[in-house]
Amino acid sequence: MSANEEPAVTDPDADPDVDVDVAANLAAVNNAIAAAADGAGRAGDQVTLVAVSKTQPGAAILPAIAAGQRVFGENRVQEALAKWPDLKAAHPAVRLHLIGPLQTNKVRDAVALFDVIETVDRPKLARALAREMAKQERRPACYIQVNTGEEAQKAGVLPEETDAFVTLVRDELGLNLAGLMCIPPIEEEASLHFALLRQIARRNGLDGLSMGMSADYPVAIQFGATLVRVGTAIFGARRPM
Ligand SMILES: *Cc1c(COP(=O)(O)O)cnc(C)c1O
Repeated sequence: MSANEEPAVTDPDADPDVDVDVAANLAAVNNAIAAAADGAGRAGDQVTLVAVSKTQPGAAILPAIAAGQRVFGENRVQEALAKWPDLKAAHPAVRLHLIGPLQTNKVRDAVALFDVIETVDRPKLARALAREMAKQERRPACYIQVNTGEEAQKAGVLPEETDAFVTLVRDELGLNLAGLMCIPPIEEEASLHFALLRQIARRNGLDGLSMGMSADYPVAIQFGATLVRVGTAIFGARRPM
């Protein structure tokens, strides 16, 4: 952990939501993943569930860990620093994914805390990650976020810039590049974006595809998702921060 880490505190108001049965929801999502994989002729273990615990307190996360869930996703470094160091110390098998935008001034904390960084999206960030990983001698796996919908307000490299960015990240900087990640535009058919991400990954020899959320993860699995990022279907509605 870095020297300037904040003390691990959980929101004091953070009681678990008694209306949400996290273990039951998790079982249902795992069943749906297995069914979707089966339907696509894929083995269930080719798909990893990333339980997205953003805005959820430790009290909501613990039942998921108790039910066997080991991979979690957070979208903000500061929030993750407040929740996860203690949880990871108590549950060393847990793997934490960063699924939100990463500022370069948070790279040190992110490299120290996260096991997978799914949102590498610009050369400056890739270079900062390479420097910091060398310094910490810690090499979290990385995904490149692709802005498949070419939305102005969304992070990610444009589809036509992705091949060159893969070359930079994987071949020049030597990051441990596992695959690509996307968040399709809400109003568009997600499957078109999943297909595009798969196509870009294939032509670059990348196996990892992080795509699919609560609303569309079975479809993403049909299109080859290896990571699905599911929050509300497991934890219920997000808490106001
Ligand atoms: C919040 C979030 C998710 C989970 O979304 P749900 O609809 O709650 O499943 C997945 N991916 C990213 C990048 C997110 O920020």
